[in-house]
Amino acid sequence: MNDAEKLFLTQSENKRIVVFGAGQNGKDFIDKYNSLRTIEYVVDNNAELWGCAVCGTTIKNPKELKKDFDDNKDIFTVIAIGRYYSVCLQLNLHMKIKAQIAYIDGEFIDVSEIITDRLSPMNFHNTTLRIETTNRCNLKCSFCAREQLSRDQGDIDDDLFKKIINEAASLGFRKLDLRNFGEPLLDKKLEKRIFIAKKCGFTNIFIYTNGSLLTPERYKSLSDAGLNCVIISLSPKREFELTRKRVSYERIFNNIIQIAKARKRRITEELYAASIEVHIVAPASTDDECRRTEFDLKNIGIKKIVKVHIHNWSDFTEACSCEKHTPCHRLFDSVTVLRDGKIALCCIDYDGKYILGDLAEENLADAINSDKYRAMRKAQLTGKLPSICKTCSNFR
Ligand code: SF4
Ligand code: SF4
Repeated sequence: MNDAEKLFLTQSENKRIVVFGAGQNGKDFIDKYNSLRTIEYVVDNNAELWGCAVCGTTIKNPKELKKDFDDNKDIFTVIAIGRYYSVCLQLNLHMKIKAQIAYIDGEFIDVSEIITDRLSPMNFHNTTLRIETTNRCNLKCSFCAREQLSRDQGDIDDDLFKKIINEAASLGFRKLDLRNFGEPLLDKKLEKRIFIAKKCGFTNIFIYTNGSLLTPERYKSLSDAGLNCVIISLSPKREFELTRKRVSYERIFNNIIQIAKARKRRITEELYAASIEVHIVAPASTDDECRRTEFDLKNIGIKKIVKVHIHNWSDFTEACSCEKHTPCHRLFDSVTVLRDGKIALCCIDYDGKYILGDLAEENLADAINSDKYRAMRKAQLTGKLPSICKTCSNFR
């Protein structure tokens, strides 16, 4: 039991527990703890959910929470939403509410530091290190900005990779996303890199892939190296054929079938088996098409299927007109390293126009605490955003 969990469990009976987030994390939390403590209510930004219930607990407008805080009701707030960092900042900036803990993927996190030192990444244990091991790709997807890359293309240097991994591991980083712009399976040294990271202490290593090269043999070698999760991008067949070039839907789907079988075999043989997730990109598909794709995937044993939205790469739309821009969590809970060691603002900064540091020249701790990096985080809090954020559809 960590300190954040103890903090929750030792709250007096009079405290009113309110959960922020009616999604999976919120459900899990209520399901697990409702028998120990009464959960007063849940708040969620999705107006369609207001008045409904999650595990028997009513979902309300976040304004109710604000009202209860203003009335000095003794409330203990649990943030149960993946982007807990920006929710904590938003609550504090716009509603003057201090959240106490977050509950994400079954883990309790003390979020008090977010408020005390808003300009630092919180705890590295929950910060994702994203490293572009390669920016080469074998496909051409119409929604991808890769075609516009003016950066050199190739794989990361081995010594540079080791340096970054060592520095990150000693700072306490444990989450590693081995891709940014490119297809990670084109990197022949990927397994070696996963093995190095695992040995250094990374406990959650994952890749996003287009699935075209994901054979059962590759899945086996990635699992053996210590990969925790492989996330495959797919669309319903009609949309897939409109948006992907150089590969067929059938090929990707067949690869998913084969690795799902390989995973089952490994689990039976008690071998380590990376989990499989499928992310569905479907802005142009009908509900029926999405349902059919999900049905087919569930039928072959894929349990985690996530529908993802497409963002605008910040290039193509008018500046955000929102009065209150949501502080973007990316500056606080992830670090994006390009294949030459430069730190980009985030994955939206595909061409590295907003470079915040250079890990070929400086160490990771100095880079993420540099004046430049802190100024960029401060911009998220004050709303004085760089132009790339102003036109980014991701966080509004
Ligand atoms: S597979 Fe990924 S990196 Fe390659 S073009 Fe498609 S979206 Fe871009
Ligand atoms: S460009 Fe978009 S995703 Fe990136 S930091 Fe700005 S708001 Fe966040």
